[in-house]
Amino acid sequence: MKLDLHIHTCLSPCADLRMGPRAILERARAVGLDLIGVVDHNCARNASAFAALPHPAPARIYGVEVTTVEELHVLALFGSERTAIEFGNSVYQRLVPVPTHALEEAIQPVVNEHEEVLELLGQWLGAPTDWPLSDLCQAIHNVDGLCIPSHVDRPAHGLLSQLGSVPDLPFDALEVTPKYNLQRDPVKLRGRWALIFSSDAHSPEEIGRWWTELPCDAVMPIARLRDALRELASAQARDPFAGRPVRGMRDEA
Ligand SMILES: [Zn+2]
Ligand SMILES: [Zn+2]
Repeated sequence: MKLDLHIHTCLSPCADLRMGPRAILERARAVGLDLIGVVDHNCARNASAFAALPHPAPARIYGVEVTTVEELHVLALFGSERTAIEFGNSVYQRLVPVPTHALEEAIQPVVNEHEEVLELLGQWLGAPTDWPLSDLCQAIHNVDGLCIPSHVDRPAHGLLSQLGSVPDLPFDALEVTPKYNLQRDPVKLRGRWALIFSSDAHSPEEIGRWWTELPCDAVMPIARLRDALRELASAQARDPFAGRPVRGMRDEA
């Protein structure tokens, strides 16, 4: 199965306004993804538009890329769009307030399934929240979500750049970039957590540039995905390239 658990919609201030639900699903289908994670920075209001669309592949889970008080990015992913939206609303409440009218480019449209704009959000979603990482991890698990720190090895907003190491918390996986050296594994991540690969797409063309391969037939409901990620962690302890797409992708380091 091909999974990409990190795709932004047009609601994220840094995303392309073409990232509406129809465009995203069409592109995800075209590149053969079986499951996608629909996320936005610090909000999940666009999840309903995806849930309202018919359900041929890819399957969808929904969530939020939360900015913690440490300025880390963490994916909080849920099996139902309702839980994602409620969780996203509590994240939005905890944003450091920066009104979008104070910024040059921050268009944050909540859209419906027809890609019509319903509302423009007024608090900048690029701001950090006051939520510490360990409390956030607990809060995500309390509502049966997956807690996956994003791009842990990237120079900005990743665990390694912000904290210098990966704290011993019950993450469901860690997202690494294609640049992370899986064989040498310089910060000893392999086997401790499942290492996943995602596109972090902000434009339709970026969907399909990277994904995770899982050797199973189904990953829903979300408890099954959690198990599949545990199995991936064990497989990666033996084989550094387990879960990694085959070579030859265009963004490969
Ligand atoms: Zn991020
Ligand atoms: Zn992202």
